[in-house]
Amino acid sequence: MIPITIQDVKVITTMPYANQRLVIVKVMTSEPGLYGLGCATFTQRFHAVVAALEHHVIPYVIGQDVQRIEDIWNMSMVNSYWRNGPVLNNAISGIDQALWDIKGKLANMPVYQLLGGKCREAAAVYTHADGADLHEILDNVQKFQAEGYRYIRVQSGGYGGKYLGDVRPEGAVKGTYYDPKAYMRSALKALEHVRSSVGEEVELLHDIHERLTPIDAVGFAKMVEPLKLFFLEDALAPEDIEWFTQIRAHSTVPLAMGELFNNPLEWRSLVERRLIDFIRMHVSQMGGITPARNAAIFAQIYGVRTAWHGPADTSPVGHAANLHLDVWAPNFGIQEWCRFPEFMYELFPGLPECRNGYLYPNDKPGLGIDIDEKLAAKYPCQDEVLTWTQTRLPDGSPARP
Ligand code: MG
Repeated sequence: MIPITIQDVKVITTMPYANQRLVIVKVMTSEPGLYGLGCATFTQRFHAVVAALEHHVIPYVIGQDVQRIEDIWNMSMVNSYWRNGPVLNNAISGIDQALWDIKGKLANMPVYQLLGGKCREAAAVYTHADGADLHEILDNVQKFQAEGYRYIRVQSGGYGGKYLGDVRPEGAVKGTYYDPKAYMRSALKALEHVRSSVGEEVELLHDIHERLTPIDAVGFAKMVEPLKLFFLEDALAPEDIEWFTQIRAHSTVPLAMGELFNNPLEWRSLVERRLIDFIRMHVSQMGGITPARNAAIFAQIYGVRTAWHGPADTSPVGHAANLHLDVWAPNFGIQEWCRFPEFMYELFPGLPECRNGYLYPNDKPGLGIDIDEKLAAKYPCQDEVLTWTQTRLPDGSPARP
């Protein structure tokens, strides 16, 4: 049998809304009309991913047998010698997800069937409720409850809380300032207010977004314990993960970690030592469906569940990939859902639909999603020096975003 091969790869960039620069890879094959889509979105450094694809990854994969996903993924990883970085992982993810899409189309099956079939009909999702004050936060939580959401992430005034007062030293440079202590107080107040108002029926979540010192994260995990969160997200920066032993020793709050992880070494020991309850890596950032499937199976052995990262800077193609993993994985926990605006369903036909707090895959072969390239071209990516990640502490020093 003559293998079907990769004939050409197109890298599509588009910025349809909210300044999210999306990178979509389209793999065309030797079979007329057969192609696959993959997410390679690293929104903050999208040019670097495009260059990695065009100059390094694509020249290697042209002519390869589309069926050999494992071989192509593993060789693409080691072909650069240096590996496990966000740019290369995203570039490889674009190819990897597209090859899973193609394999599904060849088998005439959705990708979840190739993974082992459904464990559930749909994925329960959590969404993000924020607000400038307690009143607005509670309003938003109740609005989502009315729409059927049963898992709600509660934040107060953005990830860093509301920046209270101005104690910057004279001459402090411009930036996005936050005060970790003020954040900690306001987040706790918001969570207490929401929990006491909505009762225990609804699952509440919170994202520290690595904005506390490790010892304050330990203290915060202890303080929120009585609020019975579904999970506490990214309590620590990846650089501080050894502190998870301290959090575990002082609190039973379930812990979710990993949206910034690049390298399997980062999640391996946390899972093996049962220091977290949910892996929540960014699937394109870890290299695509192939490594995510492996991580999910690995986590299952240790009783750890999945909660893949699902912000607006994961493209709709990436969200479709998340969802195929979600409905398959026996150890699925929850899926983050960014509630795409309606027009994104025109731009990405087949984008999963959310009803009553559940995200539903369609039954089309492959990932079940497409892109309207003409429409995508109407939203070219604009270059910008990012400001929200220029985070600083009250004394003006740089901080993690
Ligand atoms: Mg997060």
